[in-house]
Amino acid sequence: MPLKKGLLVVLSGPAGSGKSTIAERLVEMRPNTRRAVTATTRSPRDGEVDGRDYHFLSAEEFRRRIDNEEFLEYTTFNGRCYGTPRRELEENLARGGVVLLVIEVDGAESVKFFFPDAIFVFIVPPTPEILRERLVGRGTESEADVERRLAIARNEMQRVGEYDFLVVNADPHMATLDLAAVIRTVARSRITGDEVARWNAGYYADWRTRAAEE
Ligand code: 5GP
Repeated sequence: MPLKKGLLVVLSGPAGSGKSTIAERLVEMRPNTRRAVTATTRSPRDGEVDGRDYHFLSAEEFRRRIDNEEFLEYTTFNGRCYGTPRRELEENLARGGVVLLVIEVDGAESVKFFFPDAIFVFIVPPTPEILRERLVGRGTESEADVERRLAIARNEMQRVGEYDFLVVNADPHMATLDLAAVIRTVARSRITGDEVARWNAGYYADWRTRAAEE
């Protein structure tokens, strides 16, 4: 029997908080850590790759997958559809390690229902002004789009109380280290109820090497 399945880490917070960048850095930094790829009907930004950053789908294909119940959750954000493929996420978790899911707050709330043991991390830019600078600086959105995203961001901030941990993204490297510290603590030390079985089965015998994989 697998003694441990993957740990789902949901990263949420206002668009422009830097959560995708932090997720990418964590994947580079931490062994056995992967990103769950979600689906969207928005167009790829410069540099974004289908199947790596998102599954970029037509509205018709997205609708087909909704009808087929292929999404764990889906939502509309700024006029576009976004959804988490159910089977892909489950397969990813079955491989063990850490799976990062980067989604907005309504999606995170739904995921909490299906995966109550996941950890929920809220990423924030230090100030509203810095958030605006980042959204403008990205240069990929029109002014109206930036204003809409800022309005959404203010609402998203109100939901921080639903999360387990806060990571302030003043600097992406520091924020990634903070996130890594949270994950390490939970992965190694959270009591899940399997401890006696694991202890008896010798799970902790090679802890020096195993802990490095946790
Ligand atoms: P963006 O267009 O900036 O890539 O994404 C817009 C927002 O949608 C971000 O907050 C992003 O994290 C979120 N998002 C991406 N994929 C999903 C998903 O599958 N479900 C939900 N609920 N939100 C998502």
